[in-house]
Amino acid sequence: MGLCFTVLGSGSSGNATLVSDGETHILVDVGLSGRETARRLREIGLEPERVSAIVISHEHGDHCRGVGPFAKSLDIPVFMTEEAFGSSGLRLDARKLRPIRPGEGFAIGGIGVTGFSVPHDATDPLGFVLEKDGVRVSIALDLGFLSNLVLERLRGSDGIVLESNHDERLLKVGPYPWALKQRVMSRRGHLSNDSVAHYLANDFDGRAAVVVLAHLSKQNNLPELALLSARRALEERAGPQAPQTRIELAHPDRIGPTFRY
Ligand SMILES: [Zn+2]
Ligand SMILES: [Zn+2]
Repeated sequence: MGLCFTVLGSGSSGNATLVSDGETHILVDVGLSGRETARRLREIGLEPERVSAIVISHEHGDHCRGVGPFAKSLDIPVFMTEEAFGSSGLRLDARKLRPIRPGEGFAIGGIGVTGFSVPHDATDPLGFVLEKDGVRVSIALDLGFLSNLVLERLRGSDGIVLESNHDERLLKVGPYPWALKQRVMSRRGHLSNDSVAHYLANDFDGRAAVVVLAHLSKQNNLPELALLSARRALEERAGPQAPQTRIELAHPDRIGPTFRY
């Protein structure tokens, strides 16, 4: 079997994605509670004991709050940067920690993993490319803008999980205090629907069979808006070279479909 991925949940209440080749099962972020992560894994037929490794993007709670409880009774390594670990306050048996660095690839079973730096207000935050036999899945969840490095890392992906956090208009008129609005909109904050649309219309290489829009804000976005904006952007590339890419949504409270390659 090639590579497959399933977004177990995504949003400010918690993020977790499973990437698997059928033998090696990698959890990218454990931002749901340990118990909820285990429950969702069982729901897709995977006993938590079979998880091979955890890879963490950054220290914000919605990406790592479940790591300690989830990994506690399991003998699994946790890959994250030392800086992120230092800032996280995670309670974790130090023997489980596998320090990683942006740009340096490593292997977990038969799956190659490389972290790449993303612009976000955390300590050394990362996105990830996971690769097997030429199939590539990329995950970029919290980022203020699509830097050249991020664009380069997303290129050639067969599946992409990308943040489409907020609608700029909804954010501006929404309930957040001004300082928080500024933070979300900043270049170290979160990606807007418009940024994703701009990416899909201009920079996306059209290769991915699916782009999953993730980390949608409950207060400052609507699933329909995010979907519409992304689908429109792809449609605008009409013509013989128009990508056949599916746009899907990730949800905070339910498991998404499994995409297989
Ligand atoms: Zn974050
Ligand atoms: Zn987040």
